[in-house]
Amino acid sequence: MRELQYRAPGELAWCEVAEPRISAPGQALVRPLAVARCDLDLPMVRDGLFPGPFPVGHEMVVEVAEVGSGVRSVQPGQRALVPFQPSCGACASCLRGRFAACATYRAPAGAAFGFGPAGGDHGGAVADLLLVPAADHLLLATPPELSSTVACTLADNVSDGYRAVGPQLLERPGADVLVVGGYGQSIGLYAVGFAVGMGASSVRYADPDPERRRIAATLGAEALAVPDGWPRRFDRAEITVDFSGDPLGLAATLRSTRDNGVCTSVALYFGGDVPLPLLEMYTRGCTLNVSRTDSRAHLATVLALVGQGVFDPAAVPITVAPWEQAATAWLQPAVKLVLQRP
Ligand SMILES: [Zn+2]
Ligand SMILES: [Zn+2]
Repeated sequence: MRELQYRAPGELAWCEVAEPRISAPGQALVRPLAVARCDLDLPMVRDGLFPGPFPVGHEMVVEVAEVGSGVRSVQPGQRALVPFQPSCGACASCLRGRFAACATYRAPAGAAFGFGPAGGDHGGAVADLLLVPAADHLLLATPPELSSTVACTLADNVSDGYRAVGPQLLERPGADVLVVGGYGQSIGLYAVGFAVGMGASSVRYADPDPERRRIAATLGAEALAVPDGWPRRFDRAEITVDFSGDPLGLAATLRSTRDNGVCTSVALYFGGDVPLPLLEMYTRGCTLNVSRTDSRAHLATVLALVGQGVFDPAAVPITVAPWEQAATAWLQPAVKLVLQRP
């Protein structure tokens, strides 16, 4: 079969590899129908963040091709969403609902499809077939009214946007929200969309990038330019999101978090330790959440909210590229790139 591999910084290639095979009763083989590019995928391939070569892609909607003898909940031919983090559903962490910390699948960068050895060598989504462990636990039925083009975006970045504001707004109904972008393309915008849809009293979006500010405004946010670098702080909000990827942006976001407010950082900081304004955070009682999202934990909620029309992920522009052009399309600029199989 063919899979798209990261070969070297800036270089992708289609490669012929052996088909994966079912080797345990709980597994399934799936055929990706559409694959979205995660905000991390572009720097990962452009800059070579993890050692290659490895098959890329981890935001996907699939058709089930074959199931092991123990699989009950899905059948061949069915369309399904796959959380981007493999988990077993049966270990102590999974039983507590902490699927991203699954003890069965551990990896240096956290278990994930499409990350190569850093993610535990689980195969990539831009491929003819992918082996999914614990299929009954992992595969989620995809409602027919949700197109594959949109559905594939849900597994990672849309879920990441939800977890940055959704549980916080359920706990603090009607709170105001400040999202600080700049690191990647889409997660901050998805956070804006959920914040508006879930009834935040006001939503502001700060980003040096004018195109993302324009999109945020169409989603219902007040867009804030950042003309002279990150300010010391913005006007404070009860719920804040850091997606700046810049230590100064993170510090500004923390200082912009209201007394007893909560800040969630969804950006990655690769460059070593990052200073925090801890005395201010202590004095004002600011909580900082730092983690990867937990795809399996949030995906069903996200599917339900999208189904109820709380937020339409298609409101963040999607650039569709033909599957065959993946090796070049994967590196092109786009807020959300989706590879679509014919
Ligand atoms: Zn991702
Ligand atoms: Zn587990």
